[in-house]
Amino acid sequence: MRFRTRLMITSVTIVILPLVMTLIAFLLIGRVLVFGNRAFTLGQTFDYKMVADMGSTFQTMTDEIFERVMDDMEETPDILEHRDYLDSISEEINFKTSFILVRKDNEIFYVSDEEYEDEIFDILPPYEDAENAISNIYYTSTGQLLRQLDFKFQDGSNGSLFIITSVKTFVSSKMWIYMIIAMIIILLLTSIMMTNWIKKTIMKPVDDLNIAMQHIKEGNFDYVLPIDLDEKGEIGELYRSYDDMRLRLKESAEEKIEREHQNKELISNISHDLKTPITAIKGYSQGLIEGIADSPEKREKYIRTIFNKANDMDNLINELTLYSSIDNNRIPYNFQKINVATYFGDCIEEIGMDLDSKNIKLNYSNLTTPDTIIVADAEQLKRVINNIVSNSVKYLGREDGTGVIDIRLLDELDSIRVEIEDNGIGIAQKDIQNIFDRFYRTDLSRNTKKGGSGIGLSIVKKIIEDHGGYIWATSHEGEGTCMHFVLRKYADDPEKPETDTVAQEA
Ligand code: ADP
Repeated sequence: MRFRTRLMITSVTIVILPLVMTLIAFLLIGRVLVFGNRAFTLGQTFDYKMVADMGSTFQTMTDEIFERVMDDMEETPDILEHRDYLDSISEEINFKTSFILVRKDNEIFYVSDEEYEDEIFDILPPYEDAENAISNIYYTSTGQLLRQLDFKFQDGSNGSLFIITSVKTFVSSKMWIYMIIAMIIILLLTSIMMTNWIKKTIMKPVDDLNIAMQHIKEGNFDYVLPIDLDEKGEIGELYRSYDDMRLRLKESAEEKIEREHQNKELISNISHDLKTPITAIKGYSQGLIEGIADSPEKREKYIRTIFNKANDMDNLINELTLYSSIDNNRIPYNFQKINVATYFGDCIEEIGMDLDSKNIKLNYSNLTTPDTIIVADAEQLKRVINNIVSNSVKYLGREDGTGVIDIRLLDELDSIRVEIEDNGIGIAQKDIQNIFDRFYRTDLSRNTKKGGSGIGLSIVKKIIEDHGGYIWATSHEGEGTCMHFVLRKYADDPEKPETDTVAQEA
């Protein structure tokens, strides 16, 4: 639920709830008080006017009695002079706080409650002339309601029958006290209820988030909020943002650990890769210094080996430099239109000579049309081919001269597919997906002590993708590996520039 809705519910509830509860309290208290005062007999319909409009309730009740008294007077004119009759009316009034009084001229003839007799007598209204006159309700200065019926005694003296009720004690004073208590309770209850609700719906989630944040601060990214992430409103959004943040932080912390691990591995691999040529260079130069190479041919061989080893080191350092450029997304490309047949023809010639010296057979087939053109950076594409071929050589595992590398160019409508296949040690299926990842080396490669940094194929993949192509590998352990990459053909689009130099800047 949104905060705005919550606030609206809170403000409406704060007003409506006490109002409704006060009304209920009024009805209940009124009913209890009226019952308590026996202001009506059970079976009679309860009327809240009894609580709210004391005058009319009192009038209804006294009307009934007076009508009956007048009927009785018609039958027996001196009925009001009979004390037992007056006793019966008095009993019938049945109010706790009501009583009757009969005045004869200026004296009390009958009173059912002597306690109030003195207090009330002096303020009773005078006798009215009209016979059997029923007067309306009076409120006396002492807070009583009274109703009067005037009649004539048999001896001619003026008589008045009064029904007197103390309003203060009827319902209202108690009503006020009870209502004030009820309202205090109602307000307290409403306040406790609303505070609890706000606490549960706002404070608790905030506390939960606080705890979760503490965990994050302490580097614990596994702490999952013990709540429903589908919750709606701002709190739900906060929960979800927290969880997103937690997962991202967790991911980047894991990445950091992984990168640190990879860097350590890279350093150890580079040390190994550098150590091999350096040891060779040291050995051969020592041979030269100590005169072990005693003939000009030997000396030339030693010097050539030193040169080749220095070249290997140079290549490795270049690879590392390129890797750092890739990492920063800053490879300078020089895209040009290249004729596939010519370009690969030249490449194969170069590679062929090298492989020949290593006693490895190279087969080449080109199934693309002679005029096929691609847009590529010639130098970077050569790096790709060299890298793949040198991997084939590195992981050939055949020193007996049976090593074969096949390079095939296939035509695929608007693109060309290059396949470089060897019959080397192959790659396990579980590794195939990962060989293009940075620093990834298969167990086999690790065990062969061939060196290798695990970055060659990640550079290859990056270059191919920057050319708009894609690369994948297929392999069978012990049988060989095939690298496939696809490059788009150049379509003669007049809007496209002939050459395009792209320097990718991060
Ligand atoms: P490296 O410097 O270790 O050769 P690469 O990124 O070039 O790194 O290759 C990653 C891994 O893929 C290698 O360590 C090796 O295990 C595997 N690999 C690549 N090419 C071949 C291949 N032709 N035959 C067998 N394994 C290969």
